[in-house]
Amino acid sequence: MKNATPLPGYLVQRYHGWKATTFAENKAWYNRLATEGQHPRAMIISCCDSRVHVTAIFGADQGEFFIHRNIANLVPTYKPDGLQHGTSAAIEYAVTALKVAHIIVVGHSQCGGVKGCHEMCSGQAPELDETTSFVGRWMDILRPGYERVKHIENPDERIAALEKEAVVMSLENLMTFPFVSEAVEADQLTLHGLWTDIGTGTLMAVESASNTFDVV
Ligand SMILES: [Zn+2]
Repeated sequence: MKNATPLPGYLVQRYHGWKATTFAENKAWYNRLATEGQHPRAMIISCCDSRVHVTAIFGADQGEFFIHRNIANLVPTYKPDGLQHGTSAAIEYAVTALKVAHIIVVGHSQCGGVKGCHEMCSGQAPELDETTSFVGRWMDILRPGYERVKHIENPDERIAALEKEAVVMSLENLMTFPFVSEAVEADQLTLHGLWTDIGTGTLMAVESASNTFDVV
């Protein structure tokens, strides 16, 4: 293997800073995390976006959240076709092995993935329509959501609505996984949909009967 180079110096420095302070001060706790294994109560599905910081929003420490991140916090439908499905694998492990009590899908404002989906679906981004575009094919998951919001006239409002559709669709698609729907029906698992506004810090939660988002 010849393509790995040493870690950038600023990261090496930050690591040693953490090891000498936070880690050194909490050694026993880290040791317990290692020996007792993980028992997270919740799985979080959020966007890869570097501004979405779910552990900070909830003041969560290591061991509390089983986190999966992908472009635009999307869950595909259940498709057991023998191919490789990272998101589905993470959901399967969280529900069947870790037996998490909650799955929380977290969408966000100014989502580049959702904006790309909006451009693709409205014919403004032919490059995303190419078979070779991994982002485009991933965003296909949200195409039905675009159909639901395309009547909204104001483009900013339409894109914000599509960000929330990404959350709603993911919750709908989660229920197509038999182990998820069975756990939900047995009251062992609850599903939650959130949308966070990066600029204002506002957090909204979807209300399932009406698919509307209310401030938490
Ligand atoms: Zn995003």
